[in-house]
Amino acid sequence: MRALLRRFARGMSEVAFPPSCVHCRALVETTIAIGDTGDGRGFRHLCARCVTQLEFVQPPHCTTCGHPFYGIVEGGRRCEKCEGLEPAFCEGRTAVLFKGPARALVIELKYHRGLHVLADVEEVLRRSPHVLELVRGATLVPVPLHARKARERGYNQAVLLAEVLARAAGAGTRVEALLRRVVDTKTQTAFDRRTRMANLKNAFALAPRATLNPDHHYLLVDDVFTTGSTLNSCARTLRRAGALRLDVVTFAHG
Ligand SMILES: [Zn+2]
Ligand SMILES: [Zn+2]
Repeated sequence: MRALLRRFARGMSEVAFPPSCVHCRALVETTIAIGDTGDGRGFRHLCARCVTQLEFVQPPHCTTCGHPFYGIVEGGRRCEKCEGLEPAFCEGRTAVLFKGPARALVIELKYHRGLHVLADVEEVLRRSPHVLELVRGATLVPVPLHARKARERGYNQAVLLAEVLARAAGAGTRVEALLRRVVDTKTQTAFDRRTRMANLKNAFALAPRATLNPDHHYLLVDDVFTTGSTLNSCARTLRRAGALRLDVVTFAHG
């Protein structure tokens, strides 16, 4: 009954505010009246045309960052971008390329308080079997924001992303905020890569009272994989705290 009411309420809000596509602003045809299976799945904030433009990652891909390899892969399983990374984690996977509609979803979520697009983020993840397969049953650790930034934004998108990922994966997958960011990296973009890396090195610490179980599978979660240096810094902290099985998942690769 409650689910029915929720669907009704959602239907009403969509009548009052017809959803527009976050990427191209076209009206999104919802399937609320006909064809909705009632499980709440399907895209609500991307139009059908933009959904077809999502670039889903398919294996084979770089084992460190998840970027797809095109054509025939011989030899190395790590892409050029990851060569200098020395990852402290084992494997990295990503759902989509950080382009077009996927980029629009992330920007809406991160900078425009567009928490409603999480439903579409979840839908993307549900269509990414190689990500869900790695995530299933693991303990998801979101990349933390510095307290100042978290206050400013009001939420940490990596936490919200980890939550929808845990829901999509099911099978006891859970979220534990085991890390905190101790260095405010506000002005990071002003530094060159070398300085940024040095600053990032000690930017993270274990959250108060956090403990790790060496038998658990831990998975760092972030919205976008760019250089991988933030994720790697988090990974080093978890390794020092005793994580033996540690992988990385990002929503998009950019
Ligand atoms: Zn669109
Ligand atoms: Zn790579």
